[in-house]
Amino acid sequence: MTQQDRRALVVGLGIAGIATAIGLRRAGWEPVVVERSPERRTGGYFVGIFPDGKTALADLGATDNLHVRNPVDGKDWTVSRSGRARPGAGFLDRPGGPYAVVRGDIEDALWRTLDDLGGAEVRFGTRPVGIEQTPDAARVRLLHEPTGAESVEEFALVVGADGVRSGVRRLAFGPDEDYLDQWAAIICAFELDEQVPGLGPEDGSIDARSRRAAWVFGFADRTPTALLTYRTQDVDAQFTRPPAETLREVYAGMDHPSVAHVLDQLEKAPHFLFDSVNQVKMPSWRSGRVVLVGDAAWCLNLYSGMGSSMAMRGGADLGQALREHPEDLHAALAAWEAGLRPTITGHQRRARLMQQLFVPSGPVAERVRAVVLAGLGAVGRLTNRKTARGAEAGGTPAGGAKATADAGAGR
Ligand SMILES: Cc1cc2nc3c(=O)[nH]c(=O)nc-3n(C[C@H](O)[C@H](O)[C@H](O)COP(=O)(O)OP(=O)(O)OC[C@H]3O[C@@H](n4cnc5c(N)ncnc54)[C@H](O)[C@@H]3O)c2cc1C
Repeated sequence: MTQQDRRALVVGLGIAGIATAIGLRRAGWEPVVVERSPERRTGGYFVGIFPDGKTALADLGATDNLHVRNPVDGKDWTVSRSGRARPGAGFLDRPGGPYAVVRGDIEDALWRTLDDLGGAEVRFGTRPVGIEQTPDAARVRLLHEPTGAESVEEFALVVGADGVRSGVRRLAFGPDEDYLDQWAAIICAFELDEQVPGLGPEDGSIDARSRRAAWVFGFADRTPTALLTYRTQDVDAQFTRPPAETLREVYAGMDHPSVAHVLDQLEKAPHFLFDSVNQVKMPSWRSGRVVLVGDAAWCLNLYSGMGSSMAMRGGADLGQALREHPEDLHAALAAWEAGLRPTITGHQRRARLMQQLFVPSGPVAERVRAVVLAGLGAVGRLTNRKTARGAEAGGTPAGGAKATADAGAGR
């Protein structure tokens, strides 16, 4: 293949897009990235990076660029139905626990990693409006939104990394309705300007009732983020009024101060996400020279806790497959999809169970959840105490050294 044969269009500068650009660069390809926003995003909602995500970050060479924000002195409080707050399961301060970051931290780490590899041409305010495939290339019509100018360019490969409502998917695979699996649930996520009164600066709180829940995620070195999520049988009706109005009605009667504070803050928030919860299910993520990665291809949704991790894994593995099949693009894409699909299917299935952790489906699920988490919390606190004693005695806590260092460093 010539260098011209290795020019790829990546649509979307989110986690999947930047990870893909890194993978392509490593495989000797030239990525050109188009992003419909006018600039790169920063900030965003809480994201936990679990072991699969840590491995993907390492495979992309991005670990050292990630700024980790696990609370050092914070507690996560679980609010009971009576309104009493108790120490929660403490997932974030366990040895080997997930990295706590906001979405923009991951994008930033990947961006800096891509930069170290020579970067990529990035065109903001730009999106594809037509894709036509010939035997030798994908011919893409690109629209520059601010000027309305259109151009046509050929690429050897087009990667749609443009999120759950992917434009590339619509152009190359078909309408959203064919692939979006709607979950009868809503999320609202945003950055709090001020911590909940009464909580420590790094504290979080969880108030998860039957069919509605309010989460606050504390960090070491920034204000918390909030997540409101609830179940509903009528998703469309949730979008007929301003979100704050809808949410005040849904959360009426949940009187804990954290919920009231989050609702008040939402009304002042400059940016927030208010959306239905979906998964994307596709029989194939590739069509000729067009391939989808991340939420565009398989959106696992927030309940899985694995969307960012798998977006990174998708980009890393695509690069790996192109390296292993340097002369045969279609063999590379087929191998990439075959390798990744079982993992993605597993995460999509587990997300249904994980949804119960975020927002129980009814009163029985609420009670079961509380009992299970109380048990896990007790075990976690015991393990943490033992680990701390081991460390004081000079031992190395199993799997804990790196997590502890990362959590404290706020890199
Ligand atoms: C509230 C919430 C909490 C979450 N928590 C976690 C968690 O704890 N752990 C975890 O691993 N995952 C979590 N996730 C999931 C994770 O954030 C996503 O899976 C991940 O960000 C997907 O990245 P992506 O790059 O595929 O898509 P996106 O982040 O949607 O990025 C798509 C990019 O493409 C651009 N774009 C869109 N359309 C076009 C177009 N037509 N042309 C050009 N550009 C376009 C967008 O502007 C955007 O920059 C959470 C998600 C939510 C909503």
